[in-house]
Amino acid sequence: MNPTEPDNTLYRTLLESTRAIPWKIDWATATFAYVGPQIEALLGWSPSSWMTVQDWADRMHPDDRERVVNFCISQSQAGVDHEADYRALTAGGDYVWIRDVVHVVRDEQGQVLALVGFMFDITERKRGEERLLLLQQELEDLSFRDGLTGVNNRRKFDAVLQREWQDARHEVRPLSLLLFDVDFFKHYNDCYGHVEGDECLRRVAQALTRATHRPGDFVARYGGEEFVLLLPASDARAALTVAERCRQEVFKAQIPHAKSPIGQLLTLSAGVGTAIPAAHDDPVRFLEEVDRRLYRAKHEGRNRIVDRAA
Ligand code: GH3
Ligand code: MG
Ligand code: MG
Repeated sequence: MNPTEPDNTLYRTLLESTRAIPWKIDWATATFAYVGPQIEALLGWSPSSWMTVQDWADRMHPDDRERVVNFCISQSQAGVDHEADYRALTAGGDYVWIRDVVHVVRDEQGQVLALVGFMFDITERKRGEERLLLLQQELEDLSFRDGLTGVNNRRKFDAVLQREWQDARHEVRPLSLLLFDVDFFKHYNDCYGHVEGDECLRRVAQALTRATHRPGDFVARYGGEEFVLLLPASDARAALTVAERCRQEVFKAQIPHAKSPIGQLLTLSAGVGTAIPAAHDDPVRFLEEVDRRLYRAKHEGRNRIVDRAA
């Protein structure tokens, strides 16, 4: 035998001993001319059960079918080699991720005669990709969370403020911002220690979270012992109600503060503001105004809410 011209037996042995599954479709009749016997080990359907292109389409996940079939047909009609990933149905009712790599065979006039290709089992790779995607989402979520209290962090607040500000401007609706600062927290740490101080901040974060009831309400740790709430589509009255509820929730938590110069329990001071942003308004100015109100709440004796400009 001429070593450069192997006979059909060699071709067949090569084709049917690989993990990739070879196949051929006759274009004129849209029927399978050949499917490698390996298909039965992978999907459970016998090679002889693959008769037509319709069988191939029918044994595809319904969510993949339209996209993949349309893509493959249009590429084949155009005579373009292509590949497609999809979930193939097994005889047992499960799905296996397949990558189909397709070569279009044409005659000298360019007419499509047949499609030949290989199916590869890419289930493991897809599983890896999905795990990676989940991990990425988890990481992203973590990067927006405050490590101590579990509420949103400052980074997230900055992003959400920008977004909510734009939305409020476009929809001409009020946006309310509440800034809270724990009263005499330095005394608290001095009295109970930093570990208890950390626990206290967690309880405050939980209390503030309990005080927000609407799906769009947003709670973040602004820094140290400061927290911020954003209330989309909430007017000044609603903002004051939520601010009062926050103080109520912290009161209900009954966190002892033996060294507080103003009582026996931990308290908060708050600055509250509401804006209907106009074209040239700046969220930073708004935040600064609310911060001034918080500062006044401190100076006017703490354990109170200031919701008006001086
Ligand atoms: P004021 O009523 O004026 O707000 O008094 P304050 O003592 O709360 O304010 P000050 O800014 O003097 O002190 C804040 C304290 O908060 C000091 C700091 O050690 C403490 N603190 C900030 N972050 C943390 C934290 O993550 N854990 C603990 N345990 N303490 C923190
Ligand atoms: Mg502070
Ligand atoms: Mg403080």
